[in-house]
Amino acid sequence: MQFRAVKGMNDILPGEVERWQRFESTFRRTVELCGYSEVRTPVLESRELFVRSTGETTEIVEKQMFELERSGERLALRPEGTPGSARAFVAGSVHAREPVTRWYYLGPMFRAEQPQRGRYRQFHQAGCELYGDKGPVADAEMIDMLVGLLAELGIDQIDVRINSLGGTESRAKYREALLGHLRPRAAELSDHARRRLEDNPLRILDSKDPRDRAAVEGAPSILDVLEPEDSEHFGRLRSALDALGTPYQLDPGLVRGLDYYNRTLFEFSSTSGSLGTQNALLGGGRYDGMLKSLGGPDLPSIGFGMGIERILLAMPETQPAPAPSVFVAPMGGQAAEAGLRVARELRRAGIRTELDGRGGSLKSLLRRADALHAKLCLVLGESELARGVVQIKDLAAHQQTEVALGELLAHVQATLGREEALH
Ligand code: AMP
Repeated sequence: MQFRAVKGMNDILPGEVERWQRFESTFRRTVELCGYSEVRTPVLESRELFVRSTGETTEIVEKQMFELERSGERLALRPEGTPGSARAFVAGSVHAREPVTRWYYLGPMFRAEQPQRGRYRQFHQAGCELYGDKGPVADAEMIDMLVGLLAELGIDQIDVRINSLGGTESRAKYREALLGHLRPRAAELSDHARRRLEDNPLRILDSKDPRDRAAVEGAPSILDVLEPEDSEHFGRLRSALDALGTPYQLDPGLVRGLDYYNRTLFEFSSTSGSLGTQNALLGGGRYDGMLKSLGGPDLPSIGFGMGIERILLAMPETQPAPAPSVFVAPMGGQAAEAGLRVARELRRAGIRTELDGRGGSLKSLLRRADALHAKLCLVLGESELARGVVQIKDLAAHQQTEVALGELLAHVQATLGREEALH
């Protein structure tokens, strides 16, 4: 019986994984330069954590969580990284040790969505959370860091959209203004939006349904009704971005699907067309009330999550997997053990070495060394080993030399060094 991976969940095989590693190392370097440290939290959390933070009426919590029950406890595979990180921050009383905390994470997230290109049931996010700074300078710094990160990854066709949701008062005021616009148009809304109208009208701004899009046309903008402090926060964020020369557009329709946001919101999407409809690369914003609502300190927070699969789809093709410098081909019998020793010696000297211990003919081993684009092939035959020597085939220069085992490392280093100098 053959098994398939679970629907919407993918294997990442060698050959492909190098691109992941390239992303991960660039991400780590970039955020660590800005003072972030890595946090690793469990993939399983209490279901209630996501109900309380992500929000009970969000699509993620209502429809997309992978849930399980164990010893009467209701658990969920994390659909996003922010709640687990906030829980860990509160549980560890981290605020008692430092006034400002910068954390980052990388890892798998789970949402039972309909899979398509760029949308999976297990996907991966890289994200940052900044606790203890109410912005707006920190907000601008985070957005600018992300623009720089994408540029370093070679992703330059992007759209940066920002908005402010204000605080509780601004949002209450805006809710009324929006309802004033939408109520007379209720009949034109999609069924889903009509059901949402009274409990969460802001969500309708996010809808992709053409009926809802038509109905929100001409709706008042939240930016026009922000309370003075919210408006000032947003103005200072914009002027910091302007001072940095960071490109952005205002998008008063940007609300994002989660409950916990306030004030600053941002979303980056790819404009290259290569991602089709799933072109959102990352999203984030401020969630100043979350830590307190999880029983923690009353500290402001801001964060983002980026979809690694989508970043990789948007990233230009890079170099294929690095080729081994040396291919070690023992020709059966005792030679296999000598092969193990030689390969170990080369690797300890930092030389990328592939050992083929399967035996087989010299022809087939050389074919394999060629296919891997190895630079040198060491042929270890029993009669040569009895004499204490090895044949070195330089696959690029089409030359063959016999070298004493004791001088092998120095010879390989010299040859590889010479070739490097030539390229
Ligand atoms: P969200 O938490 O929904 O704002 O998602 C943040 C980012 O994660 C998005 O901008 C996407 O890049 C990525 N993302 C969200 N859901 C998925 C998914 N099902 N498959 C792949 N990437 C996703």
